[in-house]
Amino acid sequence: MVNEDRVKSYFIDLVRIDSESRSERDIALKLKSDLESLGCEVRIDDAGEKVHGNVGNIVAVFPGTQKSAPPILLSAHMDTVSPGRGVKPIIDGTIVRTGGETVLGGDDKSGLTAIIEVLRAIREQGLSTGDVEIAFTICEEKGLLGAKYLDVSPLKSKYGLVLDATDAGTLFVRGPAANHLEWAVYGLEAHAGVVPENGISAIQIVSQAIAAMRLGRIDKETTANIGVINGGVATNIIPNKVVIHGEARSHDEGKLASQTDHMTACLEDAAARFTLTLDGATHRGRIEPHIERAYDRMDVPEDSAIVRLIKEGASKTGIKVTLGSTGGGCDANVFNGKGLMIANLGTGMRDIHTVKESIDLRDIATTARLVLEVVLLNCRL
Ligand SMILES: [Zn+2]
Repeated sequence: MVNEDRVKSYFIDLVRIDSESRSERDIALKLKSDLESLGCEVRIDDAGEKVHGNVGNIVAVFPGTQKSAPPILLSAHMDTVSPGRGVKPIIDGTIVRTGGETVLGGDDKSGLTAIIEVLRAIREQGLSTGDVEIAFTICEEKGLLGAKYLDVSPLKSKYGLVLDATDAGTLFVRGPAANHLEWAVYGLEAHAGVVPENGISAIQIVSQAIAAMRLGRIDKETTANIGVINGGVATNIIPNKVVIHGEARSHDEGKLASQTDHMTACLEDAAARFTLTLDGATHRGRIEPHIERAYDRMDVPEDSAIVRLIKEGASKTGIKVTLGSTGGGCDANVFNGKGLMIANLGTGMRDIHTVKESIDLRDIATTARLVLEVVLLNCRL
């Protein structure tokens, strides 16, 4: 049913099309035309303008023959990380990699390939299915921006799959919610050699605060990190501003909130220790927090329709499937946050976000076989 040669040539075609984040236009136009030739109704949304990219998300409907069957959503992202321009795939048996100058882009062109192959197999063999809705997103690698700007209200699907994870046969059903954390920390500028007693060092405030923070793995469900620190101007100036960027993630909303509050409290406590009176005026260290929800939690129950379909598909095809929990975020988190029930299925991509990235083409074909079975079973629900 799934054609391995077609999977191979389509995947190679896609990785040869440059599609770094915000520059997905060329691959989007190819996918749009391929979806249209499969009979899909295709539109491109306005997310591209919102992220200052050159194209939006693709939203398509592949019309099935069974109109009473529930629709199902299949999604993958079109963008790649850098260095992703001029990919020259090297095929070694069933393994595809690059010479080490660029990433391969199997993240997530393996997902795109598997989805197109599923539709082709259905068309070619005249298989009976319900409608399949497609979302090919932009800017996943830039904080899931395409999915965030995708309006899900026209979608009829209540559940589905994102194909954007490593191990073929692993279905990720749990993923953390994440907060993006940014704090501007202010002290008081002074000459470091002449009047250091007239200054409050924002770098000292930040140092004391970070030294007091619980970071790294907090517990089984929760992690936190300070990733970027920017501040200071010169060695002879007591620095009056530092901006720090971090994140906290948890599978539990309560723990995420308390970790976020803890990090802000460490900064507030440290800032409060620095006060200074100059010419009758009191100066204090102070902080301005900017806390944003990066993405919501993915928590797809084992008895949900999509997990049952995958399990049934696995037993029909003989493909081994395991359910997984991840510490990462993907478009599925965003879709779940918008009320859909979407799990993330692995496609076999390896060493992603590095120039050593590779994939076994058989894993893409296996993923397509499993997803095809899920689509077929879905219309019997
Ligand atoms: Zn990805």
